[in-house]
Amino acid sequence: MGLSPERIVGDELLPILRKVEASQRLSREDGLLLCKTPNLTAVGYLANLVRERRHGAKTYYVRNQHVNYTNICNKFCKFCSFYAKKGGPAPYQMTLDQVRERLSWHRDVPLTEIHMVGGINPRLPYAYYLDLVRTVKEVRPGVHVKAFTAVEIVEIARQGKVTIEQALADLIEAGLDSLPGGGIEILSDRVHHELFGKKLNGEEWKNVARAAAKLGLKQYATMLYGHIETDEERVDHLVQLRELQDETGNFLTMTPLCFHPEKTELEHIELPTADTDLRNIAVSRLMLDNFEHVKSFWIMNTVPVTQMALWYGADDADGLVHEYEITYKEGEFGNKTQALTHENMIRMIEEAGRIPVERDSLYHEISHEQLEATRRPKLTPVPMAKAYGALGAGQEGEDHPVAKSSTDPGSSGNTLPFTIPK
Ligand code: SF4
Repeated sequence: MGLSPERIVGDELLPILRKVEASQRLSREDGLLLCKTPNLTAVGYLANLVRERRHGAKTYYVRNQHVNYTNICNKFCKFCSFYAKKGGPAPYQMTLDQVRERLSWHRDVPLTEIHMVGGINPRLPYAYYLDLVRTVKEVRPGVHVKAFTAVEIVEIARQGKVTIEQALADLIEAGLDSLPGGGIEILSDRVHHELFGKKLNGEEWKNVARAAAKLGLKQYATMLYGHIETDEERVDHLVQLRELQDETGNFLTMTPLCFHPEKTELEHIELPTADTDLRNIAVSRLMLDNFEHVKSFWIMNTVPVTQMALWYGADDADGLVHEYEITYKEGEFGNKTQALTHENMIRMIEEAGRIPVERDSLYHEISHEQLEATRRPKLTPVPMAKAYGALGAGQEGEDHPVAKSSTDPGSSGNTLPFTIPK
């Protein structure tokens, strides 16, 4: 005979079990208790009740490609190893032709999503961002373009001397389909001040989220954990996201993101443990009662932890993720090809005892006819505002500490060191 739910959670978490069974909202104090209890198994059990109530054994994944169009950035966030600096990654800025080339690497893969973010390069004009989106739609018609965090949106609006609403409207017209999470990391004035003071603050981030909701532009939410934030700040972040979701109803998914200290200014901090990874996924699932999906981003928390996470509240394993450049394997710069084949993604999910379900970016289950529409790139050029050759690698803002002689590490015309998934 199996253990009863009461035995699994124990006396300490019994009141939370009762709330979860009754689908009642958890309080800030409940969230803190879930962060601090040593009984991680019970936290996972509670999160799994919610996960299975919503999605059963289904685990979603998407076939996507990441394009990080520049690593030149004037925000200097202390937790970031991506931006170009002396002794770190060489600066690069993709031209539209380089973006076309990058997209053509996977021309035979039936991708449904292109995920595109970059640094804040003050030399990039407004038209570049619009043409970037148009270029993706030109090369892969029918694909979903998820692009630009809130900090990029603020920069794009600044470049265009337009309001946030106008910038979003123009990007939507160019082909933008949704906004990824990111841009705020954690909604805490203290952490903002200490780690990313040059980026937008919590209120500015929420204003971008509200503007996107007003225009019907779907978006995703994240939380970067494992640096200097406290349990209280994590719970507060989740409560603020929950309140914003009550207001807008516009978020599709929550993705807790594991901080990687290698090559950042916070290198002295230890990499978060599996306990921290699983707990943040489970607490997110339990606190965010108005979010449909919680994702485990395998590329940051590893495949084995993601397999566990599918029993700790996560119903989404992200995607095949080609060329993710924000974090680096084994702390080495330039190691940018990180991908699971389609077969490996399915095996990872099935081995964990879950049912793999391919989805599009809006969580519609994918049929083969839909995939065919995105399979073949169409190379008919669309009108562009101008050429961007002059913005190539080595151009920098006055406050940017990079070497001028560097070249784009991603434009070497490559052969991929893995089998392209079918
Ligand atoms: S996290 Fe983003 S905004 Fe901050 S330094 Fe890195 S690229 Fe720039």
